Amino acid sequence: MFIVILIAVGCVWQAVSWSYRAELVKLQQTGEERLALYTGTLNSLLTRMENLPYVMAHNDAVARLLLHQDNLDQLNRDLESLNYWAGTDSLYVMDNEGNIVASSTWREPVNLIGSNYAFRPYFNSAKEGEQGRLFAIGLESNQPGLFMSHGVFREGRFLGVVVVEAALDPLIEDWREGGENLLISDANDVVILASNSAWTFTSLKPLDPEQRALLSSSLLYSDQPLSQTPLEFGIELEEGGRLVRADNNRYLMVSQQNPQLGWTLSYLAPLTGVVQQTRSVLIIGTVLALLVLAVAMYSRERRQKKLSRKKLKEAEIIKQINLRLQEEIEEHRRTEQALRDAQTELVQSSKLAAVGQMAAGIVHELNQPIAAIRTHAASGRLLLEREQPEKLRETLAAVTRITEHMASITAQLKIFARKVPKKKEKVLVENCLDAAMNMLQPLLDEADVRLQKQICDEPLYIRGSQVQLEQVLVNLVRNGVDAMQQSADKSLQIVLKRKEQRLELQVLDSGSGIAEEHLDELFNPFFTTKEVGQGMGLGLSICYRIVSDLGGSIRAENNPQGGAIFSVSLPLIEETGAKDD
Ligand code: ADP
Repeated sequence: MFIVILIAVGCVWQAVSWSYRAELVKLQQTGEERLALYTGTLNSLLTRMENLPYVMAHNDAVARLLLHQDNLDQLNRDLESLNYWAGTDSLYVMDNEGNIVASSTWREPVNLIGSNYAFRPYFNSAKEGEQGRLFAIGLESNQPGLFMSHGVFREGRFLGVVVVEAALDPLIEDWREGGENLLISDANDVVILASNSAWTFTSLKPLDPEQRALLSSSLLYSDQPLSQTPLEFGIELEEGGRLVRADNNRYLMVSQQNPQLGWTLSYLAPLTGVVQQTRSVLIIGTVLALLVLAVAMYSRERRQKKLSRKKLKEAEIIKQINLRLQEEIEEHRRTEQALRDAQTELVQSSKLAAVGQMAAGIVHELNQPIAAIRTHAASGRLLLEREQPEKLRETLAAVTRITEHMASITAQLKIFARKVPKKKEKVLVENCLDAAMNMLQPLLDEADVRLQKQICDEPLYIRGSQVQLEQVLVNLVRNGVDAMQQSADKSLQIVLKRKEQRLELQVLDSGSGIAEEHLDELFNPFFTTKEVGQGMGLGLSICYRIVSDLGGSIRAENNPQGGAIFSVSLPLIEETGAKDD
């Protein structure tokens, strides 16, 4: 908004200064036209007078008077009538010493005849043979006038001078009647004529006392004090003309010189019109600028209102979206709750299913030995009745074997019932491996399996229980041996290595491998592909449980070269940093 105001002020200022300038130029043109008009009038006056002294100087009556003092009365009368018809102020004849000898004013009370005016410059000019021109205040008439003179010469002899005095009052009257402001300044820059009497006989330039004394002595301006002009001069325009202030009025002054007289005629055009026009432009410009500002402010307010309406609308939309989001979140929360409930239900039912599966497995596993025990018990009773103690002993031994088998099944199941022992110790993995291999050696030998061990040199430690890690190794090796039953080449490889901060334990066999569809189910309890009585499907699920408890992971994959690979990853501990819980 500040910028708009600035631009508006700038535009108004520009318009005002442009209009002021244009008006000044117009005024200057008008001034010059008027000046040309008044210069013309002045020139015509001068031309009218100019010839008169020449004609008079060549008049015989004048020469006769000067030579022989003849016919004075007649000449006085002639001068009087010539003066009347020529419209001049006075005409007179001076002798060669500057004494006025004949005059058109001979009849008037203030008579010039007998006075000496040899000091006037026009006398000397005429004596030199030039035409004398002078503005001066008439010594007798005390009126400003233009004096023109011409020397009277006969046969090369200087006889005297004829002088024409023209009053300039009518000129001033003309100017005043026309309501015009004009002034004439002479070569000394003294105003000799002005429409405003207060300006007359003032100096346009400052005079020092010396100059003033010099001008006074010339008696050109009578006893006028020649004070400083009341005109205050301002700047000069490029186009010509000068700004002037006088009596609280401002003018544009245009001037033209008259080289013959050494005069300058100046016309002062009042600036009132310019000021009025500029003021009008200022007022109109200001009104327009205010209008533009008002329109700008109005449209800005409208824009802001529109914007705030839009913002309100947007806020409303956002509010709606928020509400919808909240509803959706609520909906999601409800769905999540429902899902969680369903999950809990699923967990419950899968737990139940697992329990069911386990129960079925246990039933399946134990039914056979129970039936065998029952059979053995019946046959034992018969053998007792038949008194065959040897056979009875064998039967009882068989029962014992069966119960041992049953005990081994229940022993395996204990891991699910028992809580994982909290106590964890620092375990050297290689020790576990040795213990497990000791236990498994007879099995490997029996199955004719070639064992390969790849064990890293540095001792690797984990935190856990040695028995548990042994159990994991035993289960994996047993499964490998089982899988290689049909294989021609039975080789089992055990790899023990460090991978960053973890232990990597791998059991690779050259057996049948794992069917793709079974890969995801291997670690489920009671998942088995073995014949009844061969396996319960608990081995891998027990491994999974143990490894998870030790903070590790177990995975199964097929070896591209044949057979299966079981990999166990467990966090390692440093040899020194391990402490028992
Ligand atoms: P079980 O040995 O009693 O069947 P496990 O949980 O130990 O139970 O094994 C589950 C099943 O995983 C096995 O029946 C077998 O199909 C498969 N399996 C385990 N180890 C191997 C192996 N090394 N090679 C091929 N299949 C294997």
